[in-house]
Amino acid sequence: MKRKQENRYDPGSLLDIPFGEWSRVLELPEAEGYRVRQVQEWVFQKRAKTFSDMSNLPAALREKWDKELPLRVLKLAGRETSARDGTTRLVYQTGDGHSFSAVFLPARSGEDEERHSLCLSSQVGCAWACAFCASGKVKLKRNLFASEILEQILWAEEVMGKKINSLLFMGMGEPLANYNNVLWALRCLRSPLGFGYGARHVTVSTSGLVPQIFKLSEEAPKVNLAISLHAADDEVRQKIMPKASVWPIKELLKSAWAFQRSMGGVRVTFEYILLKGVNDSLRTAQRLSNLLRGRGAWVNVIVYNPVPGLPYERPSDEAIDRFAKVLSDRGIFVRVRKPQGTDITAGCGQLGEPKAVGAR
Ligand code: SAH
Repeated sequence: MKRKQENRYDPGSLLDIPFGEWSRVLELPEAEGYRVRQVQEWVFQKRAKTFSDMSNLPAALREKWDKELPLRVLKLAGRETSARDGTTRLVYQTGDGHSFSAVFLPARSGEDEERHSLCLSSQVGCAWACAFCASGKVKLKRNLFASEILEQILWAEEVMGKKINSLLFMGMGEPLANYNNVLWALRCLRSPLGFGYGARHVTVSTSGLVPQIFKLSEEAPKVNLAISLHAADDEVRQKIMPKASVWPIKELLKSAWAFQRSMGGVRVTFEYILLKGVNDSLRTAQRLSNLLRGRGAWVNVIVYNPVPGLPYERPSDEAIDRFAKVLSDRGIFVRVRKPQGTDITAGCGQLGEPKAVGAR
């Protein structure tokens, strides 16, 4: 006999349902299939929060849908803005009482003023236990539904009053461990019937789940991939990424190149967090460049953001530059990613147990 899962939460949002099924779920007669397009326009362009907002649809339908299908399932529980760089951490609450954050990264001065980004969370907690990451210390509570992933954007644009140009799955959680919900979220992000983002404006970041990277390369719409590599040999990777390193670096790179091939033209970036005395020697930089050479690979050298209770330190600025120079001298595209939002613990890897932040 099947066990009843009585307490299993399901937000039941329209945003969790693939577009192909909207007509059936909305119970539209065949002749009224065009109404799906109207609803999509209200949801993604006009940003309706309830069906009753959709003024060009029949009142009886709107009333019925409002009773059956919530359009927004998250509550915005608070926000905090960095006085230093304007980075804003948005705290959301799910219908079953979990809290998690997304991080709004404003365009940096001097760059295109309109290039704002949002770091999305894909899970509440994380099971991958990377040694340098605050999220890895938060027990996995559950996967986020696609609606809960996508709504982070809807709320963030509304609260910040800005159009978000680029989406990064770099908040809390391992996106590829929440494969199905993330896949649908990606389709909705890329679809012209949904958010309509371009391929280069969406980046999935993974600690390196090899089977899922292969799967994604076949099933997902074109998106950028960022792989958290963080080491140039398996021994060091095992120490700092004890779970993700069950797949050897060699296998991980194979999946990365497969992704690059099948997506054609998108960027595969390798994230490399520099930890003093652990993975930052010039010898390691050489080894890393040997692994990635000739593939048009990008390396994002990440400056370690301190996490309370962790033993790691960041190398000096000079040591960071020397490491990056070894890579660029050997033909690897390198960017050193400077910390953002660290004064409000909203930097990469700092999203731990949500703390109370000021209400809206
Ligand atoms: N689970 C996914 C996405 C979340 S983390 C992944 O591992 O890619 C997003 C990026 O922040 C990853 O590259 C991660 O390794 C990095 N990161 C984790 N802890 C960090 C820290 N303390 N300082 C700087 N970057 C960190």
